[in-house]
Amino acid sequence: MQTQITCPNCGTPYMADIYQIVDVGRQPQLKEMLLSGQLNFAVCPNCGAGGRIATPLLYHDPAHDLFMVHVPQEMNLDQVRREELVGRLVQQVVNQTPMEKRRGYMLQPQTMLTMQSFLEKVWGTEGVTPEMLARQQKQVELLRTLATASSDVQDYLIKDRAREIDETFFGILRAQIEATSQMNDSNLVNDLLNLQAKLMTQTEVGRRLEKQQIALHALSRDAKREGGLSPKLLAQHVIANEHDDALANAIALTGQGAMNYEFFSLLTKEVEKREKAGNKAGAQQLGHLRDQLLVTQRELQEATQEVLKKAQATLDEIMDATNIEEGVLDHLGEVDDAFMHVLEARLAHAEQSGHDDQAEKLRQIQDVIIAQIQGDTPPEIQLLSQMVNTPDKADRDELMAARSDLISDQFLEVVDMLQDQARTAGQEDLADRLNEIRSEVNARLLVTGQA
Ligand SMILES: [Zn+2]
Repeated sequence: MQTQITCPNCGTPYMADIYQIVDVGRQPQLKEMLLSGQLNFAVCPNCGAGGRIATPLLYHDPAHDLFMVHVPQEMNLDQVRREELVGRLVQQVVNQTPMEKRRGYMLQPQTMLTMQSFLEKVWGTEGVTPEMLARQQKQVELLRTLATASSDVQDYLIKDRAREIDETFFGILRAQIEATSQMNDSNLVNDLLNLQAKLMTQTEVGRRLEKQQIALHALSRDAKREGGLSPKLLAQHVIANEHDDALANAIALTGQGAMNYEFFSLLTKEVEKREKAGNKAGAQQLGHLRDQLLVTQRELQEATQEVLKKAQATLDEIMDATNIEEGVLDHLGEVDDAFMHVLEARLAHAEQSGHDDQAEKLRQIQDVIIAQIQGDTPPEIQLLSQMVNTPDKADRDELMAARSDLISDQFLEVVDMLQDQARTAGQEDLADRLNEIRSEVNARLLVTGQA
């Protein structure tokens, strides 16, 4: 929700997207934002100061039966107001959860006293342990120290704490550079870029990463020049880097679409050529690399098959359900790209082979899913779009009267948000209509005493 905040650094008021509810079943992308630190992170457009906004956060992950809430201490809420606030958030989540998906645990969210314990729980659902997090936390602190340290202190720390400067560390550094460049702090960006350049030459991981970047760049440059990555080109690049196992693997993985039968037979041909020429060591080295890549390729295929198998099993269960609609609702959490792919493939097959009953059932499943996805539109938005499309004021009043349960301050905020969006997008007509609706809603709130 767009919320006005005041910059603690320069006092400028500005709007930021603030989320108080993360419902992973409905908006999985919010979980990613939360874990990468982007959620509720605002940057002042005037001075560039940025930080996490203190806001209550209710988290729901139906696949892990996780339902928890964190209310920051710095909000200084007393017990009564806290409970009110949490109750309102819980109510919102419950309301937007279909009846048959509601669970007992949704009556009472688990309270997390600190944001750290909150995030540990979320990371736990990704298989990341507190120990792994603690190590990362130390790396973040090391990065902060390094970024502002003098050159000789940097040199010392890079040697002294070499074990902590691994690929994860470079990943954190990259993310930090990206975040900082959005904050207009060119000094800090420069410091970080200089540090990165230094680490690229002074650490083993850095040297390896740089070599890898150069090699992958060469691969994509050649592929572009030839209008695509052929198995032959991939084989050439893998052979050119065969002395470096990790690098050769990275190249093959980048071009995994071309890692096919032709690719492997090209490698085999080269091995045989070396054997014939009496280059035993060379033949052995490349033969070993080829075998390694074969294993990698098999693992990749198995992983893909595993995903497809799961999707197929889900589809079978839905097909077997006595009621198609209920079957879909029970498995809505498993409906993903792989599932839709399997569904379409099976539908096409059923149509071609004349299995009309089966095709009909599969089409029905497709329809229910599509309806379900569209039905995800919150009722506030549904009402609002009805009102926008109703030219007569009296008719709009009737619409509001019929859904008076939706007319609230929150509804006003939705109107404001959409009006802002419309203005930004240059849809002045729509914005004006929303403005008109806004005053009608406001008038209604004053009459009913809800404002
Ligand atoms: Zn500011």
